[in-house]
Amino acid sequence: MFNLILFGPPGSGKGTQSVKIAEKYQLKHVSTGDILRAEVKNETELGIKARDIMERGELVPDELLIQILHSVMENNKDVKGFIFDGFPRTIVQAGALDKLMTKLNVGISNVISLDVADEEVIARLLKRAEIESRKDDNKETINNRLSVYKNQTSPLLDYYTKQDKLIKIVGVGSIDDIFNSICEKLDK
Ligand code: ADP
Repeated sequence: MFNLILFGPPGSGKGTQSVKIAEKYQLKHVSTGDILRAEVKNETELGIKARDIMERGELVPDELLIQILHSVMENNKDVKGFIFDGFPRTIVQAGALDKLMTKLNVGISNVISLDVADEEVIARLLKRAEIESRKDDNKETINNRLSVYKNQTSPLLDYYTKQDKLIKIVGVGSIDDIFNSICEKLDK
């Protein structure tokens, strides 16, 4: 199996690049943000628990994400691999993912980290707010999401560096240029 994690702050282009990577390497794209938004929209038990937390830009509790992870793996047994977008976001989630991978006798091949400066992601998210209507794309929530990223998610960079899996990519430039630099590293 070829399993990847796409890592980066909100607005770094994880979603856009994940779709392209999934297509090229024929991987199942797993965006926990998209999954959660669908749960909110369908007013499921999970969605009801997640809604207010997401609107504030905070993290949905780990146990709910682990529940999502288990059902994704359960329902996609025949795929060539996964690209995880927006997951894991905490050390607890990363540990759960490692544990599950070990149990299935597979592993994470690489973690791609998209590097984009704060000012740039803020500008992108504010622009997206004008086009789409995501409830979490407003000034206050954006700042909160960035600090949540710094405090709770960025420690994972160290976690995966220690496992020698981290690939750093400059996430500024055209979509295709960024995609090409990702592929170049993955194909090595
Ligand atoms: P972005 O990376 O642009 O902030 P996402 O679509 O990945 O957006 O996530 C939107 C929101 O969904 C997050 O702010 C958080 O509340 C929730 N969420 C998504 N993935 C996770 C996760 N792995 N752990 C906890 N919460 C998550």
